[in-house]
Amino acid sequence: MTAATFDLGKLHGGLRLDANKAQATGSDIVSIPIPDQLVIPLKQHVGEEAQPLVSIGDKVLRGQLIAECVGSLGAPVHASSSGTLVAIEPWPVTRRFGDKALCMIIETDGEDRAIEHDTFPDYDTLEPAALLERIVSGGIVGLGGAVFPTAQKLMQAGTCEIDMLILNAVECEPYISCDDMLMRERAAEVISGAQILLHALGIDRCLIGIESDKPEAIDALLSVLAEIDDERITVKQVPTVYPSGGEDQLVQLIANREVPSGGLPTDIGCLVQNVGTAAAVHDWIVDGRPLTSRVTTITGNGIEAPMNVRARIGTPVGDVAKQAGGYTDKAEVLIIGGPMTGKSVSTDEVPVVKATNCVLVMSEPPGDGKELPCIRCGECAAACPVQLMPQQLFWYACADNEDKLREYGLTDCIECGCCDLVCPSHIPLTFDFRMAKARIREQADEKARAERARRRFEARNERLERDRESRDEELRAQKAQAKKAGRDAIAEILARKRGKDKK
Ligand code: SF4
Ligand code: SF4
Repeated sequence: MTAATFDLGKLHGGLRLDANKAQATGSDIVSIPIPDQLVIPLKQHVGEEAQPLVSIGDKVLRGQLIAECVGSLGAPVHASSSGTLVAIEPWPVTRRFGDKALCMIIETDGEDRAIEHDTFPDYDTLEPAALLERIVSGGIVGLGGAVFPTAQKLMQAGTCEIDMLILNAVECEPYISCDDMLMRERAAEVISGAQILLHALGIDRCLIGIESDKPEAIDALLSVLAEIDDERITVKQVPTVYPSGGEDQLVQLIANREVPSGGLPTDIGCLVQNVGTAAAVHDWIVDGRPLTSRVTTITGNGIEAPMNVRARIGTPVGDVAKQAGGYTDKAEVLIIGGPMTGKSVSTDEVPVVKATNCVLVMSEPPGDGKELPCIRCGECAAACPVQLMPQQLFWYACADNEDKLREYGLTDCIECGCCDLVCPSHIPLTFDFRMAKARIREQADEKARAERARRRFEARNERLERDRESRDEELRAQKAQAKKAGRDAIAEILARKRGKDKK
């Protein structure tokens, strides 16, 4: 690993890492046999947990909708093979916080019977709004790891002035090669997905950003483009530097536009989608296949035969390892994701989910070392692609100083792990930043909850005050009326009396 020293345009920092990808790219993608049991989490996206639509004991078919989305950031969930739903229960999963989540457990019947869905090979005859609605129902989320529901991202983009679609084909993290292999084998589907997304967005410009160390994938994309002659789509190579696949970094590198601090690529007219997501959009719209499987890399020195596999969503990671020859005697650490941003898990019972781009089995955790005090060397700041000062952030994270953390840009941290890797004191900076961000989010949520409660309390008081005033008003009116009636009665008596006296 060496620090990136050549010209990267405007990209600051970054690291040139040993790629370690060749181990898994020597053979074609292998489809894993149907596992005996599928474990499908109800939440595989950023929004709320999906709501089950089937009950325990029900038979399900591959591609059948088994849980519907809840809330604006939800995504529906489909069965990835035929069988019987035997439980809905907490199960070990790969999560940033907490280790278990509610999953639907399907005992497969080995028949893999599928439900038929409509297909739209002539998708360009659909209005963009109808196409978006269709994409929602395919359960497609960002397969690069962000798992933001694709249709919602497109809909949000509809409220901005988007003029460019960017397909992210940059797999800058070491070991991961699932997108590389997908493009080598399914370049036509990736390009078709790009065309569908262009139609849904109503724009005519797409850049595919890909690292220069993927010549086979580049050739595959270029030969499809040459064949279909679609001038709207251009392949742009970027240097092999980590983390050039970060959304903001990629936009900067290939579109030369800078995402403002705290902003999104859509703020500057760019919508970024992963190449795997584009292929999934094609599969759903053109072939009627919802997102029920994905390509995953299984690699590391703890695996006998590193490779890329197509695994059904819900396949236990242990089954994936078995397909790759099983574990070596070096296997000690299991990481879901890459060595920089992945999450280590304690069991291979965790299932492959929509976000699982890599299963890494290692003899030791990456970047392991005895933590020492900060020596203020500044290496972390030099490596940070967002130009933050990690040593300062670390200081304020330890002090739990939210104001200073905000001032020093913690919310712009993309949790890339570059600072960890260069830190001679082995300080787990990224972990501390992640926790600090979670605390800030929690405090913000708490503040928002308190604010909502305060508003509710004030609204209730105002309503009570209004009710009291209107009751007082009514009482005053009744009293005035009674007084007037009394005065009128007396006046009448007096008038009558005066009348009698005259007589
Ligand atoms: S983890 Fe955050 S602070 Fe560290 S290098 Fe990456 S962006 Fe910078
Ligand atoms: S790299 Fe580590 S030791 Fe050096 S300034 Fe940053 S946190 Fe401190």
